[in-house]
Amino acid sequence: MIKIEQLVKRFNGAPVLDGIDLEIEQGEIIVVIGPSGTGKSTLLRCLNFLERPDAGYLTLGDLTIDSTKATRAEILAARRRTAFVFQNYALFANKTALENIAEGLIVVNRWPKVKAHARAREILERIGLADKADAYPASLSGGQQQRVGIGRAMAAQADIILFDEPTSSLDPEWVEEVLGLMKQLARERQTMLVVTHEMGFAQDVADRVVFMDSGHIVEQGPPSQLFRAPQDPRTRDFLRKVL
Ligand code: ADP
Ligand code: MG
Repeated sequence: MIKIEQLVKRFNGAPVLDGIDLEIEQGEIIVVIGPSGTGKSTLLRCLNFLERPDAGYLTLGDLTIDSTKATRAEILAARRRTAFVFQNYALFANKTALENIAEGLIVVNRWPKVKAHARAREILERIGLADKADAYPASLSGGQQQRVGIGRAMAAQADIILFDEPTSSLDPEWVEEVLGLMKQLARERQTMLVVTHEMGFAQDVADRVVFMDSGHIVEQGPPSQLFRAPQDPRTRDFLRKVL
């Protein structure tokens, strides 16, 4: 359903993604792990064209994009099919929880405001924040803010939700409620690609764990295999440090 082929991204000439190949099935939960500075965020950002890849093909459903020749229309289509959850939530401070969730539907999907707000209320129910519809981000806890961030991604009804370290900015007390919401989405078989250091989440929820190092996918497999019997010395070395 989603296919990444020979994806390359360079910063100042140096390859940060050095020919990434990855296929993701509908309903699959993939967790990406690896040392910092390895290109995990860049990979997610390239899928959403927050960064423009330097080479490679990206297939999202029936749309295949040659990333070097991507047109404006293709980039917008790719953004509609991929929703992003940021480490720092990236909510609009001057919009309520409801408005934050509705905003993309109004601006990107061109929904009428009434319809977008109705959808946002449904989402607020699903993320357990129905009573916070009119609250501004500053009055919400970190965990609640990130649940709104996830709600915004859910509202987009994208093919895949990309999570970039969604719990890394949170005080420890809020981590579980955010992971809990992500687990709920996983049970609903929402396709997702999750960069995280939460190895317990990866163990419990991932269909497949992908280990990246220095712009490459070194190794991947079901969590039982990757965590218990890593094949590559770089994977073993990384897991020794984090497990
Ligand atoms: P990770 O998410 O695995 O920690 P990143 O994808 O953020 O890694 O970064 C990979 C490498 O690319 C790092 O060396 C980082 O400094 C570099 N990098 C990321 N974004 C930019 C940018 N916009 N300009 C220059 N270098 C960048
Ligand atoms: Mg990162």
